Amino acid sequence: MKGKTRFAPSPTGYLHEGHLLSALYVWAAARKWDLSIHLRIEDHDQERAKPEHIAAIREDLQWLGFAWQSESIQSSHFDRFEKKLKELQEKGLVYPCYCSRKELDAENPKNEYGEVIYQGKCSFETKESSLPHSLRVKILDKVIYWNDLRLGDFEENPKFQCGDFPIRDRIGQWTYQFAVCTDDIEEGITHVIRGEDIRNSTARQIALMELMGRPEPPKYLHHALIVDASGKKLSKREKAHSIRQDREAGVSPQELLGRVLFKAGLQASAAPTDLNTALDLICQHL
Ligand code: GLU
Repeated sequence: MKGKTRFAPSPTGYLHEGHLLSALYVWAAARKWDLSIHLRIEDHDQERAKPEHIAAIREDLQWLGFAWQSESIQSSHFDRFEKKLKELQEKGLVYPCYCSRKELDAENPKNEYGEVIYQGKCSFETKESSLPHSLRVKILDKVIYWNDLRLGDFEENPKFQCGDFPIRDRIGQWTYQFAVCTDDIEEGITHVIRGEDIRNSTARQIALMELMGRPEPPKYLHHALIVDASGKKLSKREKAHSIRQDREAGVSPQELLGRVLFKAGLQASAAPTDLNTALDLICQHL
């Protein structure tokens, strides 16, 4: 094998067609570039992750015919996260932030996605540390040059995209950005294949991984998303129709694959398609 990729769903709902498209891209990339596949269950948000959804991820993937070589779950990585936090703290790169959501919204500009661009208020002030606080990482004012295997070159400075960002939130939960960077490093991920909705996180993840001591970032590919009838991306929060519902209604894996390829504009009709054919088809688009 020449590298390692991962499929990293969050168990905050059942898998839907958007996840299936992502999985197809991950498995196709593995076929094309000779990569091993790691399933990482991203349950860093312990408030929203549900055990029934964890079990369902594995079952639904197996039912669809996907196989993987290794697996991990983020809730078993909390020691690893503590260790990485300590390393960053020892380098003087972490500070507590006492700003409430209201203050963050009122005092900082927002980027085009509505995210706060934190201006660093708490990095200039010292306060009583028993107050509720998040932990932010001090990022460099530095342009990140990175290449997307599908979308081409990007030049982005996270200082202007989001500013110093939280690595642990006010209730002590590890954030997505921190957990994903730690795990992509520790699990030796060489290729990150995921939807365009996360593209905006890439420069900040590369910046954080550099601070964590990984000089060479993974290669990235962000695929186009399936949208619903109103043009919005499918989302678990808004209860997108799940693979499980289709399964229970008697839809076959081949019918589901055909539908997803059709909705993603990769096949001219929704004709049933087997997994092998679907992966070969996607390989042609990589
Ligand atoms: N856990 C994220 C999600 O389900 C994906 C993270 C990633 O691929 O970097 O949207």
